[in-house]
This record gives sequence, structure tokens and C-alpha cells, in this order.
Amino acid sequence: MNDPIQMENIILEREKRYIGLTENISSDLFNVLSQTTPAIVASLFKKKNPNTKQIHSHDTSIKCAICSSEFTIKALTIAQVQDRIKAQRNGFGSLCDTCQKESDRFDREEEERKKLDREKAIENNTKCMIKHYLNPNNVWKTECTHKNRFHDITYYTVNDTIIKEYIRQMEYSLFLQTPYWKAIAQEVRIRAKFKCKQCENSENLAVHHTTYENHGNEHNVGFFDLICLCDKCHKKAHNIKDK
Ligand SMILES: [Zn+2]
Ligand SMILES: [Zn+2]
Ligand SMILES: [Zn+2]
Repeated sequence: MNDPIQMENIILEREKRYIGLTENISSDLFNVLSQTTPAIVASLFKKKNPNTKQIHSHDTSIKCAICSSEFTIKALTIAQVQDRIKAQRNGFGSLCDTCQKESDRFDREEEERKKLDREKAIENNTKCMIKHYLNPNNVWKTECTHKNRFHDITYYTVNDTIIKEYIRQMEYSLFLQTPYWKAIAQEVRIRAKFKCKQCENSENLAVHHTTYENHGNEHNVGFFDLICLCDKCHKKAHNIKDK
């Protein structure tokens, strides 16, 4: 392609072929265009006389990518033709009306199915959390690492409203026994490097709620209202509050 004469010939050849301003595009031409590089396609659509005020308008025939029937779209602008060509080139052929409707319907149903699956999964996760992790009589298996415990509590999407209501109707002392709270409290202690936030003491650490606003949604609010305190500072925190 570095031979100037060859280049010149290509350009001359190109000048002979120009897609007229209102030329109909047959499905054969459309196919050829979609196998041609974007730069050449663009050059084929260049106005022969740049001063003309007329704008490109092409009735374009395309073979449906699904049923292969030919259909014609009236008066596409050059940008619309090129969008279709680009899509075809990238493997997204155009569809006839019937196939398009069918495809849209399929997409809608698929979306609906996915939505139902998501809802079902959330419902199951919620039940699972209540049954296993919010049961004060359940304990974590010793072989289950903290990382896995924390993952189990925070990873699955649950219905936060139901979980919150469920936790809030629990007796608080029972809540503190749940695998749910134990995993969360341990995470808070780890993040605090097992030191009291007030006095850096590392013995008898408790995890304290600075507010109870998010009580019941501890698993997904980022722990900003949970702090690690030693027994002494914890008692102090509650006394100050209670007064
Ligand atoms: Zn079709
Ligand atoms: Zn507390
Ligand atoms: Zn302390």
C-alpha cells in the first residue's frame, strides 16, 4: 500500500463510486458496505458536490438477521445508515418488525423472569438469615473462619426491612447471642485492632452502638455507629447516656 500509483488508482476508483444523495440501498449493497472498513464506507457517502444543500436520504433494504426476509426502511439519514452498517459489522444485524417485536417480548419476559428469580433469592436469603444467623441458640461451627462468618452475614442480599423488624422485636439480650451479632461484633473488634477506642485497653472488649438508629441493619451500614470499647469505658458510655 506504499506504492503511490496504486494509492492513486484506489482513490480514482473510489471517486467513480459514490452513493448518490437519494440512492436506494439494496440489501446486497448494504451487505457489501457492512464488510467494508468504516473509512471507506464514510468516503462512499461523501457528497460529490459539497455545496449542495440537499441532504442524504436513503431507502435502505436489509435482510433480517433472524428470518432473512428483506425489509425496507424509508428515508434513513446517512448517520442512521452508518449506524445500521456499524451494528451489522459488529454482529448485531437489523431485525424485521415481526422479529423485533418477538425479540422485545422475549427480552421483557427474560427481565421479568430474572426479577422473579432475584426476588425469590432475596426471600430465601432472608429466611436463611432468620433461621440460622438470627437464632440465639445457634452457634458458629468452630471450623468456620471469621472471614467466612462475616461473608455469610454481609454477602447475600436480604430484605432489610424484614430483617430489621425481626431483630427489633427480639429481646436485646438474645440478639447479642446470635451468630449474626457475634460475627459483626468480631469484625468491629478486628477493625479496632482489639483495642478500646477510648483508652486503648485490650481486655474485656465489648462492641457498643453509638446510636440504635440502624439497629437491625448492622450488616449493611458500614459499622460507622459501632465502636469497640473496654468493659470500663463501655459502662461509662452507658452511664453518661442514661443520665
Ligand atoms: Zn425477521
Ligand atoms: Zn453499649
Ligand atoms: Zn476503654
